[in-house]
Amino acid sequence: METENCKVLGIDVGGTKIAVCITDRAGNVLASGRIAMGPYQTVLPEIVALSDKLLADLGCTRNDLRGCGICAPGPLDMAGGRIMKSPNMTWDAVPIRDDLQQALNLPVALENDANAGVLAEWFFGCAQGKQDVIYLTMSTGVGGGIVSGGRLVTGRTGIAGELGHIILDLNGPQCGCGQLGCLEAYCGGRNVALRLQEALRQRPEHAIYRLPGVDGKPENLTFQAVRDGAKAGIPLALQMWDEICLRLAQGLGIYMNTFNPEQIVLGTAAYYAGDFLLQPVLRYLPRFAWADFRDCCEVRITGLGLKIGELAGASVALNGLRESGRI
Ligand SMILES: [Zn+2]
Repeated sequence: METENCKVLGIDVGGTKIAVCITDRAGNVLASGRIAMGPYQTVLPEIVALSDKLLADLGCTRNDLRGCGICAPGPLDMAGGRIMKSPNMTWDAVPIRDDLQQALNLPVALENDANAGVLAEWFFGCAQGKQDVIYLTMSTGVGGGIVSGGRLVTGRTGIAGELGHIILDLNGPQCGCGQLGCLEAYCGGRNVALRLQEALRQRPEHAIYRLPGVDGKPENLTFQAVRDGAKAGIPLALQMWDEICLRLAQGLGIYMNTFNPEQIVLGTAAYYAGDFLLQPVLRYLPRFAWADFRDCCEVRITGLGLKIGELAGASVALNGLRESGRI
């Protein structure tokens, strides 16, 4: 793949803002800007205008771009290239991929956040040069992206890799997706926060309320409060943290048995927790995966850290170009 002059446009669509950046093949961000989220009809031309401005700042034109990638929260309609409505997304079934393709006259690819996460690690981060990698986003929910045999696994309808919704216990807690006992219901930020809030509803005197950052407020009883409470040795938090680590290990064991990856990369919450999460997970892992799987698989924290968001769109662009044989 040529490395000189390969510039791509990355667009990261979030609930409140849209980040636009131009990067090179090595993942250097050459120019970037942001737009506030608003109605699609006004935001679409703003994205195009900002892209042109960023190009002009670099002394470039659209002809210098090889492609464009959009990273957006799911659910997405992959066949139609559309971002669908969700609790965090006010847009409703907007055909952004084809609209941008037409407006920019460039190849445009679209992927969800988690697929973009594995692509960013693969093109720019700790998974460079690897063929079999799994990435797990761990924030409000738990999402997954899978590269197997050197290709992003998309499945029949483009929605493969929902690693947060494998069911770990038929009688487990309610997940936001409607199923019971999903990995996300045990390890996702929203679900962990709800469980903590439920446990402490009638207990305003509990030590967790006195943690810095919680400050006595029920709305501050988050995943982070569980982590900090466990670090402080508070029994309830320790018990919850232990369950998070055990269930995460159970999930990783299933991924290892299914995909035999050489690397599993954990994002966001794992990035903030570091070894405090990783070490107990590794200790539990032998209960869920044979040594044959564990020995050839490195489980690690994201190599890109918080930069992953910035590079997500660009990596989607590069993967689109790669899949279509353009690079
Ligand atoms: Zn679920």
